[in-house]
Amino acid sequence: MNIPFNRSSLQGRELEYIQQTIANGQIAGDQAFSKKCQSLLENALGAQRALVTTSCTHALEMAALLLDLQPGDEVIVPDFAFVSTANAFVLRGARPVFCDIRPDTLNLDETRLEALITPRTRAVVPLHYAGVGCEMDEINAIAARHGLAVVEDNAHGLFGKYKGRWLGTLGSLAAQSFHETKNITCGEGGALLLNDDLFVNRAEIIREKGTDRARFFRGQVDKYSWVDLGSSYVMSDVLAAFLYGQLEMWPIIQAGRQQLWQRYDAELRDWARANEVRTPHIPAHCDQAWHMYYLLLPTPRQRQALIDHLNARGILAVFHYLPLHLSEYGRRFASGAPDCPVSTAMSDRLLRLPFYNSMLPSDQTRVIEALHEFSNA
Ligand SMILES: *Cc1c(COP(=O)(O)O)cnc(C)c1O
Repeated sequence: MNIPFNRSSLQGRELEYIQQTIANGQIAGDQAFSKKCQSLLENALGAQRALVTTSCTHALEMAALLLDLQPGDEVIVPDFAFVSTANAFVLRGARPVFCDIRPDTLNLDETRLEALITPRTRAVVPLHYAGVGCEMDEINAIAARHGLAVVEDNAHGLFGKYKGRWLGTLGSLAAQSFHETKNITCGEGGALLLNDDLFVNRAEIIREKGTDRARFFRGQVDKYSWVDLGSSYVMSDVLAAFLYGQLEMWPIIQAGRQQLWQRYDAELRDWARANEVRTPHIPAHCDQAWHMYYLLLPTPRQRQALIDHLNARGILAVFHYLPLHLSEYGRRFASGAPDCPVSTAMSDRLLRLPFYNSMLPSDQTRVIEALHEFSNA
């Protein structure tokens, strides 16, 4: 039996809720389960407003629309990031400016942020890598000094905290992902968290194809029509039903992931030290979201050797993020900008271990034993 890198699973009453929404006869967006998901997120996090969306990518696109970005505006994004973190803003004509990352947490390096700001800079997009908070006090202070918006890419960080505050509530906007590879999922889905009243009305309009449909349904206007730019970012209630089945189990899901993470960390510590492999660094002021367990091998060659070693034992380990400034499309924005040596080095060395909600202790034992059999010598 192979051990996959990721695998989705039922966590609670997902199927029962899908049956309910179908029995209700209302499976479009903004029905009962979408509202339940949104209330749960608002209450759990203390976010001003949560809107479930078709993806995190779309939540980021909504953020770019809400900020009224214009061609030529600049948005600072971490270089070690998912494509959407930059692409959502590039769609509006903005130019992404790639910021290098910290070698310890692999998060946007706040000490390099201010040097990248120009008169065209409009926003910064911290990504809480692996669900470990960026240095938000510094980032928010710099953003405030220069009048920049802060949009958190919180795809990894739901239910993590920075200095006791929930990730996703620290910028004026935050994007969540419920993609299959995330802690809590409905296959494909996301949410936009709005932490500033200023954005709420327009966000509802942008999400509903540029119409004031949301106000119409609340009886605030007597017909709905085209009032602004927008697109179709509303999640179907069938998916929201699945999502609610997972979301209401969040403390149990997170506790299970914490256990997996801590077991990897404890049982790999000596092996890692002996083989010059680095394990994740979690600053004391961060409560991480238990999103992933990664290793940093000493060299790219050793990473490939470890991937082959695990594959030969039926274990799939993967790596990610080609630095954005080196990607085929990202290169066009990188000219003249300083390169990002930390991002490049980490990208060459990082390996993610199998990590999913339904992972059996016996499967994790197999992964750990396979690692113990690997040596860099
Ligand atoms: C998964 C992910 C996204 C995109 O999420 P989708 O819901 O698939 O659009 C964006 N940013 C980061 C950091 C991610 O990990």
